Amino acid sequence: QKSPLQQLDAAHHLHPFTDSQALHQKGARVIERGEGVYLWDADGRRILDAMAGLWCVNLGYGREELVLAAERQLRRLPYYNLFFQTTHPRATELAASLAALLPGDMEHLFFTGSGSECNDTVIRMVRHYWAEQGQPGRKTIISRYNAYHGSTLAGASLGGMKPMHAQGGLPLPDIVHIDQPYHFGEGLGQDPYQFGLERARQLEQKILELGPDKVAAFIGEPIQGAGGVIIPPDSYWPEIQRICRQYDILLVVDEVICGFGRTGHWFASEHYGLEPDLLCMAKGITSGYIPLGAVAVGARVAHGLIKGGEFFHGFTYSGHPVACAVALANIEVMQKERLVERVHDVIGPYLQQEWASLGSHPLVGETRGLGLLAALELVADKSDNRRFAEGAGAGMICREHCFDLGLVMRAVGDTMIISPPLVISRAEVDELIRKARQALDLTYQTLMN
Ligand code: PLP
Repeated sequence: QKSPLQQLDAAHHLHPFTDSQALHQKGARVIERGEGVYLWDADGRRILDAMAGLWCVNLGYGREELVLAAERQLRRLPYYNLFFQTTHPRATELAASLAALLPGDMEHLFFTGSGSECNDTVIRMVRHYWAEQGQPGRKTIISRYNAYHGSTLAGASLGGMKPMHAQGGLPLPDIVHIDQPYHFGEGLGQDPYQFGLERARQLEQKILELGPDKVAAFIGEPIQGAGGVIIPPDSYWPEIQRICRQYDILLVVDEVICGFGRTGHWFASEHYGLEPDLLCMAKGITSGYIPLGAVAVGARVAHGLIKGGEFFHGFTYSGHPVACAVALANIEVMQKERLVERVHDVIGPYLQQEWASLGSHPLVGETRGLGLLAALELVADKSDNRRFAEGAGAGMICREHCFDLGLVMRAVGDTMIISPPLVISRAEVDELIRKARQALDLTYQTLMN
């Protein structure tokens, strides 16, 4: 029986990433309110949001500091643009704040409205850069299968999600993919270090196949998020960095999920010792309270762009003043509460320790994680990590049991993933783990009966 709101929703609302037929049968799950790490649905049920929305509500729900910052800015200057040699104080202040937090020589920021727009911007920027350097042939961007870089034509093309490519003839020309460094899924039985090197060296093979003078950039998430929280072997990123340097390929790091403290650093590039030429951020930049994205640009590309005259690119909502005000308040709270240090030293290690204890469950083949990102792999047979047959739907079954127990955990195939708010307490971590274990038990019963 659908509620009136669910009926209205089914009649008028096309949802992103949703099977509309299933939605029409059951009605949408209605979330009404949030506070801290908790959500409340229309039936008044309290749900622990271990995904922080879509990996973004880093400060948790209901933060007055962010609400007040938005309100103040809405009253003072609700909108102005950054086109045609104009700025407003919040955009400039935010660019300077971010420059101080970013690794390496990333001193320049280009604002967008989302992660997808960041990645569209990256493609246009790197091609413009190479053209200005007298190498217009350098157009191809190399990305990875199972990466997620957004839903616009460029974002979905850069992403390596085959079902997304299949709907609409993607990827766009001059975007190619190599394999991901997913050891549990694609390299089990191999030494992880060696596997990481082999996967990184696919980049070199691809560059040589295309010709280095045709390749503009390589793009990757430090840890693939939507692909299933895929933590690369230690050998992977240093080798990618070496190859990019050797062939003079720009390195673009998509930190839309990994940025803003998620891994226990302001940016995960620090964890992996990366020195990217461009870095994308969104989501956690405002704790998801309001849309904003930014592309950080290292000295080399920034100077090239500055010399190149007008860059014919930008969005009406590039650096929206209200979004910038919220982002500034978000950074201020993160600094005042030392949240990045807390993830690195206290709550990240605690979550990982407790999460690893789920590894003893008969359904779990592997647990892995970093900071406040974690994944576990559901397997049919733990002795040899055999997967469930196609269509068994173990991940979906587990996800539904989680919901019923009052926990949001996401399923990527048979990989269960979490990314809770950075403010999660120890007691809330305990609740998360307890509910995850119960959900695993129920999933076991469902699948084995
Ligand atoms: N890049 C990564 C790594 C993401 O995870 C996402 C969204 O999940 C995006 C880009 C796209 O961001 P948006 O949905 O804000 O366009």
